[in-house]
Amino acid sequence: MDRIQHLIGEKVFNTPFIDTHEHLIDESERLDCLNPIIPCDDWALLLNHYFGFDLISAGIAHEHIVRLFSTKVDPIDKWGIIKEYWPYLKNTASGFVFQHTISKLYGIDDISKENIPHLQNRYEQTRKKGFYKHVIQDIANIKHCHVHAPNIACKKSESPNLLLHDIALNGLLQVAINPYSVPENFQINCLSDWHDLIDWWFSEYGKTAAGVKIGNAYFRKLDFERMEAEEVEKIFTQKIKLQVVSPGKEKKLQDHLFWYCVDKATEYALPVKLHTGQWAMNNVMNMRWVRDNPSDCAALCRKSPDTKFIFFHLGYPHYEEMLSLAKSYSNAYIDMCWSWSLNPLAAKDLLKKFILMVPNNKIFTFGGDEKIVENVIGHAYTARKGIARALTELVAEKWITISDALDLTDHLMHKNAQRIFEK
Ligand SMILES: [Zn+2]
Repeated sequence: MDRIQHLIGEKVFNTPFIDTHEHLIDESERLDCLNPIIPCDDWALLLNHYFGFDLISAGIAHEHIVRLFSTKVDPIDKWGIIKEYWPYLKNTASGFVFQHTISKLYGIDDISKENIPHLQNRYEQTRKKGFYKHVIQDIANIKHCHVHAPNIACKKSESPNLLLHDIALNGLLQVAINPYSVPENFQINCLSDWHDLIDWWFSEYGKTAAGVKIGNAYFRKLDFERMEAEEVEKIFTQKIKLQVVSPGKEKKLQDHLFWYCVDKATEYALPVKLHTGQWAMNNVMNMRWVRDNPSDCAALCRKSPDTKFIFFHLGYPHYEEMLSLAKSYSNAYIDMCWSWSLNPLAAKDLLKKFILMVPNNKIFTFGGDEKIVENVIGHAYTARKGIARALTELVAEKWITISDALDLTDHLMHKNAQRIFEK
């Protein structure tokens, strides 16, 4: 077991990932603090995403969360805000990601009141021009990342060899006008204008995008039905006149726009990436909708057999159903983004089962699903640890040979993504 573990560990930790999902803003926006997703610019920013959600889950008061990410609170005082919660969270995967990030990037192995000034100092020294490449390629050993930009449907990447933008369709499905979807020169008066707008995003970015991303599972079931334009024309007009639209009508309009976009993506040979399963934010998740994600996804695969559907986050917690879906449908792919830092043991379990059950060209094993670039280091480490463990166990349990495990590593970590996303 020790020899197997060593050989596989060495291979996995030296193999680059293609990272298929992040929410990173461009480096210049981060350095200038230009983007509203960056609430503060000190060490606590590293806690702003998944760790922050876990703090809320643990019961921290809202005003403490506000102070933790405020620019008006001295960074040195911020430890005092979370220290009560640290013991509850440090062994969660989000705590593990944070600890591994500061260890690898700053050489800080333990966090305490005493070393916060040092942590803040290292944060400031590291966050400088060129640090995205240093973090992503030099430390996390990632070739490049696919990015779902946080507040625009798509954009030209500042560093196209490092960050490749997907076209994010959320706003186009929900008819969110500004600033997300509609460039300044576009006039929207009727549904066909909106179709032109969708066409424009595809003609502008369809050749360079890695894929399209749809995150609407946060707001509804994934039961998208095909609807003709005539059936939703009136609803669209009501919507842009800011009139109240019933949930049933809203669904019809989104259903129509979903298929308009998916057909367009298929025409451009762009894979369609869909959020499934667990919701990141607290106190709102509709678990009944989540439960239905796998069967709704199967219906999508049947309705559009020429579309490559990439299902995110294992449909967690319903990952056995997602395995079943990927095995059955030739246009269903699984992307394990976020899953290692959501539930690393479930992710390891899924990967082992996937290898024994589903053709292994249909899985992508890494994306941090992160907005703060430093944390990608911790996410990638957690994923490598889990992948190495899954392969080691499969060999030790005599399901696969060590040479097959070593050969498989390149495919799981970057070759599958290359084959599907690089035209
Ligand atoms: Zn995401």
